[in-house]
Amino acid sequence: MAQDLRQTGASVKAADDHPTSSLGKALLVEGLRKGYGYQPVLWDLTLSVEWGECVALFGANGAGKTTLLKVLSAQARADAGIIRIAQRDARTHSPAVARLVGLVSHRHLLYEDMTGEENLRFYGRMFGLEKLQERISEVLQMVGMEKRAGQRVRALYNGQQKRLAIARAVLHRPRILLLDEPESGLDVEAVEMLGGLISRWTGDGGSVLMATHSLEKGLEWADRVTILSQGAIAYTEPREYLDLEAFRGIYRHALELAE
Ligand code: ATP
Repeated sequence: MAQDLRQTGASVKAADDHPTSSLGKALLVEGLRKGYGYQPVLWDLTLSVEWGECVALFGANGAGKTTLLKVLSAQARADAGIIRIAQRDARTHSPAVARLVGLVSHRHLLYEDMTGEENLRFYGRMFGLEKLQERISEVLQMVGMEKRAGQRVRALYNGQQKRLAIARAVLHRPRILLLDEPESGLDVEAVEMLGGLISRWTGDGGSVLMATHSLEKGLEWADRVTILSQGAIAYTEPREYLDLEAFRGIYRHALELAE
């Protein structure tokens, strides 16, 4: 498995000398609160993700999934609560914590007037990556974008931009991937690529928290499924013990509550 990761460039162990198993939980959130103005979105939210685990996060439109991922990736500030990433306080928004996280969000976070390769070079330098050209080639190959790397981002199709966004997210060998509806806009081949990446990622000890509306992909890729409803985690269960009927009922109820 680790050999595969080196081939595809998805290795998470190579980031430094510390094995992930010595770092406690990958992600620990306790009593998290976040609102916009007077509108509370997340309140007293508690969630954890183990090393080597992929957690799927389901919930209605507007439930707060993106808000949670934004808070975890330091794109938004929490109002209260504990957030630990690899046991470090993530609310400090320190560069050391930023290195641990790779984010694929609704926005591709790429410079549209630059080529894909230029974008990756820019981000790679930002993280001070060694053997950058080698690493860029690895991640471009991983997402199947070697042939399009010289094109400006604005000239690419949405799905191609998303592939590049995935390459950017894993470029610096983070340990935790935060994925916001990662399957949306991808063609069948790219969805398969993403599923393979997630599987190798967790197989090599990395962790994934993925917001999704795709029951099919969420249930296929995740080791644990969770439902966010009314600002908190309403359901969490390992996939292997999942009672699909009970899960569907709670999910339906969460969707009704949000109407
Ligand atoms: P979706 O499934 O549609 O992507 P979501 O679960 O990701 O939804 P969020 O995007 O986190 O939900 O939004 C949660 C709530 O916070 C919504 O009511 C949304 O309108 C509100 N919201 C999100 N971002 C902002 C913002 N920047 N300013 C004000 N309100 C916001």
